Formats: sequence, structure tokens, C-alpha cells
Amino acid sequence: MDNILVCKVLKGVPASKGIAVGRIFIMQDLAPLVSRKAAPDKPEAEILRYRAARERVWLRFKQDAAHVLKELGPGKGNILDVHALILKDQVLNQEIELLIYTGKKAEVAVETVLNKISEQQKQAQNKYLKERFTVSRDIGRQLVIELLGAHRLEEVKDKGDVIVVARQLTPFALADHPANIKGFAVETGGPTGHAAILARAYNIPMVLGIPGIEAAVRNGAQAVLNGATGELIVNPSPEVLKVSIMLRNRELAAAAKARTENAVPETRDGRRINLLMNIETTRNLDTSNPHAADGVGLFRSEFLFMHRETLPTEEDQFREFDKVAKAFFPRKVVIRTVDFGGDKQPPAGIEAGNRSAYSGLRGIRYCLAHEEFFETHLRAILRAGASGNVSVMFPMVPGLETFRKAKAFLKMTRDKLEAEGVKLGKPLPVGIMIEVPSAALMAGSLARESDFFSVGTNDLVQYTLGIDREDSSYSGYGIFLPPSVIQLVQLVVDSAHKKNKSVAVCGELAHNTLAVPLLIGLGVDELSMDASHIPSTLQAIRSLSFSGCRELAQKALMLETPGEIKDLLKSPAPGTAA
Ligand code: PEP
Ligand code: MG
Repeated sequence: MDNILVCKVLKGVPASKGIAVGRIFIMQDLAPLVSRKAAPDKPEAEILRYRAARERVWLRFKQDAAHVLKELGPGKGNILDVHALILKDQVLNQEIELLIYTGKKAEVAVETVLNKISEQQKQAQNKYLKERFTVSRDIGRQLVIELLGAHRLEEVKDKGDVIVVARQLTPFALADHPANIKGFAVETGGPTGHAAILARAYNIPMVLGIPGIEAAVRNGAQAVLNGATGELIVNPSPEVLKVSIMLRNRELAAAAKARTENAVPETRDGRRINLLMNIETTRNLDTSNPHAADGVGLFRSEFLFMHRETLPTEEDQFREFDKVAKAFFPRKVVIRTVDFGGDKQPPAGIEAGNRSAYSGLRGIRYCLAHEEFFETHLRAILRAGASGNVSVMFPMVPGLETFRKAKAFLKMTRDKLEAEGVKLGKPLPVGIMIEVPSAALMAGSLARESDFFSVGTNDLVQYTLGIDREDSSYSGYGIFLPPSVIQLVQLVVDSAHKKNKSVAVCGELAHNTLAVPLLIGLGVDELSMDASHIPSTLQAIRSLSFSGCRELAQKALMLETPGEIKDLLKSPAPGTAA
């Protein structure tokens, strides 16, 4: 039998969930084509050919960046703008043209220079430089495609539903992908790379890290890609294909329903929970924003600063904050001041934090140590706050003294703006992220001076247990709450409620359906999460009774190990489930 009909399951790393069904389209590897290029007769003419190709690629970079900027917001659009900037770099171009002048074909010169640069960047000690190596490779590939006249992804437009297979995928491939591309299966890359970030933003299933994928599949073969399990099934049996199509259709229908869902997040016995969104960019604000969301509970503003060559100005920042405030008006928007540090290093143009990423200059400590930067940032937030629905929240506050400093800085910035004649409306509510045990233990004092709390369970679990949140062992503790963290959340809720202040949870636990009854039972008022989890959390809330949740929480507070809590949450108390 022909190989093409043998069913194969290739395993990789899940990078963007969802099921895709389509025919395989292999994105060509260009290296063999480049190596066949002979030396040019006239180097001068070859240089002109290179320059013309460079201009076309540059123009496309700019168009793609503008397109992504419009669809996904600056956090993503800027990823592509950086490419356009580098392409115009004088030193880089001199080096390429010099090689062409000495007799190399343009494709070969481009590949030689950009491969050299990307290898140097890959080996660099500096994290910022290191991350640049894929950008250089990307630019090289785009230039070579242009010079060779080879195809871009646009060519799959009339090929029906396709799953693109590639050895390596650039953010560009996603930036201008035609709508009939239903999934990506790629040999290299990791789930936190830019291509994966864009795939998730566009809701396209993606699996990365499938070794030898190009050789393992054939162009045109039928396939099913499961972005949640990390599997690519090539030549599936008719039964598998039928079930996959059914599951895919069900997923698409659920997503469409979620967008029009208008139910209220209320328990069966009438406890209203505010259901809020966590956002990182200003992307899709008016389309993917489920009606159920009561606003934005956490705008991780530091993402506006990522992947940029220059710092965003006050005006740049204001525009983004204002866009979110207006899109959600009159619902509230909680803007968290930047939380640089940990795995989120500040961009070029401002000083990086110190070596100990998670416990060094992080969150509010970073801002208070960089006053000029902080003032610009707060000016933008305060100006956007004139709309009347914005709150500001400080991350990584350890206690009262730091909070007072941050509040005083905010007031000083506001006074200055007012002295300049800027109309700001009422002072903004000011809240605290409770994400270190110290803040949780001091919640009584903090609640007196803060307008609200939001518990960042991702960090609270990390700092309470001393387990790095990026370590693979973390998830076991994060999913099934350890008793120490439950006690801390209870303390925070009680302290806040005594002063009539609200408590949100905005860490990943907020959408864990096992943890939701417990958080509600502990008295948490608001849950804030990625938009994609709002529909399932809404359903979970509507199936619960508040009295049952309270009983559950009382039991959980008596338990002493994560295992006991896990067992309790897996067998809900009477009245907690529908
Ligand atoms: C948290 O720590 O739970 C949180 C929401 O903040 P981040 O994940 O951005 O650190
Ligand atoms: Mg945090």
C-alpha cells in the first residue's frame, strides 16, 4: 500500500489549543535552493537586485505590522515593526552588499550574514540579544524568499482547509496567514515564542517540537491536529476523522455561543460574582469581549512595553489605556502598573532589574526605583482615568510602607497634572495585588488604606511555598490549593470585608473549575481570567449554591495537606454542584 495512506500519530508540544482538520501543506525549506545559486556576472546589478528585494520586504514588514497592530494591538504589532527596523540597519546592509560585491549571489550573501548574526545572538549571554536570534533568522528567510521568488503562505489560499507543516515558523507567517490555514505543526520553537503567542491570539491550533516533521509527512495528506494534546494524526481512519470533525464543530459552536452568551454570573441562590477579564494587549477589544465579562480585572500593562525598540511615550501609553477604558465603559478597568521583573524583563531603553529576577527589583519596587519612568506611566493611566471607569493597582506590594509611597507618588503625579490644567475627574480607586505572603498577613492594615484587593495566586503560591512558578513541579501545587494559601486567602477576604472592601482573584486559579467553588465559599467577590475561560467559569458559577460553597470552604479550612484538599474538591459537598 502507498505510504501516504498509513496512519501516523506524531507527538509534539501543545502551543495553541483547538482541533484542526485539513490537508498537509509543507512550507518549503529554502536552504537547498540557495546553495544552488551560481555567482553573479555583474555584482553591481546584483546589488541593485538585492536593494529592490529589500525594499519590497521592508514594505511588507510595515504592512504586516500595521495589520497586526490593528487586529491584535501594539504588544503584537511591535514584534513585527522591529523586523522592519533591523532590515534598514546600515551595518547589516553594508556587510551583505560587500559580500555580493566580492562575487556572491544575493541569496547566499543574505543567508551567510544573517545566519552568522543569528548564531552570535543565540550564543550571547545577554537575554535581550539572545531572544533576537529568531528575528534575524526571520529577516533572512523573508529576504531569501523574495530574492528567489519562492512562495509565501498566501499561495495556499485556494487549497481548501490546510494544516501548515514547517521546520520553523516565523511570526510573519502568522501575521498574514490566509483564513483557510486551520493549524500549524512545527518542528522547532516553544510555547512562549512569538509565533505561539500569535497563534493563541488568532485562536489557531498549533503544535510545536515535532522532530523530523517535514520528512514524516507528505504534501496533501489528510490530517488532524489537536493543539490541546499536542498530536498530529496523519491519514486518520474514517472514524477518527469523523469524530475529529464533530469535536471541531462542537468547539467552534461553543466559541460562537460564548461570544453571544448573556447569562449573569450568579449562583443558584443568588450570590453575584463579578466575572472579569485579564488582558495583556488591546487586541480584539470589541469582538472577543464576551458579554458576560463585567470589565477588566487585570490589565497587565507591562506587555505594552515588550518587543519594542524604544520606550512608549506618555502619549503612546495613554492611547492604549484610553482605548481599553472606552471599549469597556461603563464597566470597570483595573490597570495594573507595570510588573517588570521575574520572567518579564523591561525593554531596551530602560535599566533592567538586577540579577535575582523574581526576588530583586520587581513590580512596584522597580517603579519606585525609577521615578521618571513611573511618573510618565502614571500620567498616562491618570489621564485615561478621566473616563471615570479606571482603577489603578500596584503589583508586588509587600506592606504598608511601600503602598503609602506608591500612593503618595500617584497623588504627586496627579497634583502636577492638575497644576498643568489637565481635567482628571474623581481620584481613581487604588488597589493592591496580594501576591506575597507578607501582604496577605498584613491585609488588615492594608485594607484600611486600599480601595480593593486582587489576589495573584500565581505568585502567592510561588512565594508561600518557595516553588518557582516556571518550574514544572509548580502546577501540582497551583491547581490543588495548598492549605497555607487557603488560610491566607481567607485572611485577606476577612480583612477586606471588615473594611467593606472587595477581593478579586486574578491568578490562574480563578478559572480552575475545581477551585472556583472554594474561592466563592471563602467569600471572594470577583474572579478575573483570560477571556477564553469566562464561558466555562460562568457555567460553573451558575451551577453552584453559595451556601454549599461556604460549607465546602469551612471543611477546606480544617484540612492540613494539599492531598486532602484535592480529594475534597474532587467530591463536592452536597449543594455545590448542579
Ligand atoms: C499572579 O501573580 O497571580 C498574577 C495574576 O500576576 P502575574 O501572573 O502577572 O504575575
Ligand atoms: Mg503576579
